Amino acid sequence: MQLTVLGCSGGIGAGLGTTSLLIDDDILIDCGTGAGQLSLEAMARLRHVFITHTHLDHIAALPLLIDTLFDQLQGRPLTVHAQPESIEVLRTHVFNWQVWPDFFELPDRDHPVVRFEPMSPGTPVELGGRTLEMIPVNHAVPTVGYCVRGGESVIAFSGDTTSNDSLWEALNREPQLDMLIVECAFANEERALSDIARHYCPETLGVDLAKLRHRPQTYITHLKSGDEERIMAQLQTGMPERGLRRLRSGDVFQL
Ligand SMILES: [Zn+2]
Ligand SMILES: [Zn+2]
Repeated sequence: MQLTVLGCSGGIGAGLGTTSLLIDDDILIDCGTGAGQLSLEAMARLRHVFITHTHLDHIAALPLLIDTLFDQLQGRPLTVHAQPESIEVLRTHVFNWQVWPDFFELPDRDHPVVRFEPMSPGTPVELGGRTLEMIPVNHAVPTVGYCVRGGESVIAFSGDTTSNDSLWEALNREPQLDMLIVECAFANEERALSDIARHYCPETLGVDLAKLRHRPQTYITHLKSGDEERIMAQLQTGMPERGLRRLRSGDVFQL
């Protein structure tokens, strides 16, 4: 299984894109602005998009990607996997003919270029030897992380979350965990804001990481633009034994 980081930043700017992870060459987890890094040929190989939640930094490129691939997707629609609550939000507030055309009815209702597949925690989806399973987390809107199993390896991605038990209990039930990508959006000085926005800061992540019985390679994502070094320094000082590393756009992992 190959994991390519298209975007993993908390904001945009030169060299920075928001959350989008590519599994092999056909599956995206989230479709933030980082997905715009793909060439047209690479974009055309996508078959599935799994959404963690509907915040703009995780879906911003989805409407544009579908529009860009309109010709290629006729007769072989892209499948968007999301919780029913997320599907409702996307249909009501994005693909509503006002913000963007409803590609779920184009070119016609019987042959759309994209289709929604409702998905829930506890019901894994198997795609060509890769299995994706939603894990509920604790964020400002209904949000999941994902556990991805493929070949001999298991990868987990937290999505956006603050303190919770569900993610860590689910990961502790896995027989193995090779790689963990976990968010830490804010520095400790912004603890109050991180609590309100329901993101981790180094202090709260440290409390939760202590619950994890595995010792996976652990990468930090969703760092606030401009605060990356400060947040990573606080994490590494607080948990030197974890060997925490910063996830970067363009990283490619073979697992
Ligand atoms: Zn969010
Ligand atoms: Zn986010």
